Amino acid sequence: MRIEVDSHTHTIASSHAYSSLGENITAASRRGIKLLAVTDHGPQMPGAPHFWYFMNMCVIPRIVEGVGILRGIEANIVNFKGDLDIDKEIINEMDIVLASLHEPIITPAKKRLHTDAVVKAMASGKIDIFAHGGNPSFPIDVVEVAKAAANYNVLVEINNSSFTTSRHGSRKYCAALAEAVANQGGYLSFGTDAHVANRVGDFTECISFIKDIGIPKKMILNRRGKKFLHFLKSKNKKRDLSEFDTLF
Ligand SMILES: [Zn+2]
Ligand SMILES: [Zn+2]
Repeated sequence: MRIEVDSHTHTIASSHAYSSLGENITAASRRGIKLLAVTDHGPQMPGAPHFWYFMNMCVIPRIVEGVGILRGIEANIVNFKGDLDIDKEIINEMDIVLASLHEPIITPAKKRLHTDAVVKAMASGKIDIFAHGGNPSFPIDVVEVAKAAANYNVLVEINNSSFTTSRHGSRKYCAALAEAVANQGGYLSFGTDAHVANRVGDFTECISFIKDIGIPKKMILNRRGKKFLHFLKSKNKKRDLSEFDTLF
């Protein structure tokens, strides 16, 4: 299965990742990735880039080595009201906004509270993708989250790193979430969550996972770059993404 978009990657700017943007782009280009989302951690994550890192992403060319570069962020959901650690100023500069729950930022509590946080973050209209929602540390009501994702046009991520180096025990939670998204008419996005260049664009685990649980590939919105671009354009008319049209 060919996947044209990597919707979740980190650079050395996240402090606990190990490759430069240039190295990630070269890796993406070699793997045939058409759109690469650069999504370093939001400001509240220890070691996260400074505010100006995100505000200055406009200096990155739109297309490098045949790869379209999406200016993005993996924002933190900071409380059970679903607030994020970014304001409008940063959001307006971003082509893509991921949001996720991370233990250093928000202490795991009850399923009800995690679910409220995620649903409210989705309802805020600020996010495009809910990342690594199958984290066993933050159990959620998958039906409620899947309904909100479909209602608010938010993609639910299947995270390749959750099956390898991070968030051990994610698999059954990811399966329940993916099935709920399928039942509610939403869409999934595969993200590598690469913290080193040789993982960029490597969706091996996501692909075998989706085959195992029998989810049709048409549900994976980032399989085709053109479709993914259309999704981003539909989310926020302020973003000028027209330069990427030449890629497809
Ligand atoms: Zn994360
Ligand atoms: Zn990440």
